[in-house]
Amino acid sequence: MEYSVPIYWRNRISYYRLIGGKCKSCGKIFFPPQNTCPYCGSGNIEPVNLPRKGRLLTYTVSYNPPEGYKLQTPLIIGLIDLRGTKIIAQVTDISPGEISEGMEVEAVVRKIREDRTAGLIQYGYKFRPAISQR
Ligand SMILES: [Zn+2]
Repeated sequence: MEYSVPIYWRNRISYYRLIGGKCKSCGKIFFPPQNTCPYCGSGNIEPVNLPRKGRLLTYTVSYNPPEGYKLQTPLIIGLIDLRGTKIIAQVTDISPGEISEGMEVEAVVRKIREDRTAGLIQYGYKFRPAISQR
């Protein structure tokens, strides 16, 4: 698998607004947004809102997540297909025993992490099983 948990954490700010990049040259959409198109190398990129519903392609479960995320153990990170754009995000409202590849998921805004010392609470997008599937 070409995606990894470290890459997810490095790009997590992009998840606050669920915005990808669209290449004006070849039309492909990618996430997280970057200055150069990963498909054709063009620098002609515009921001685009991604769909909020998608399909879980695969996932990984971490029983030893990074500091600040311990309360969310086990941490489930999914590779999600949003109508052709693949993104990595935390999967919530489900246990490792219930999750399955191919299930429909939808974006929700949730608390991402909490720094009690600084009094900071960060919010961002996570994905949960789509309501229509329950
Ligand atoms: Zn392109």
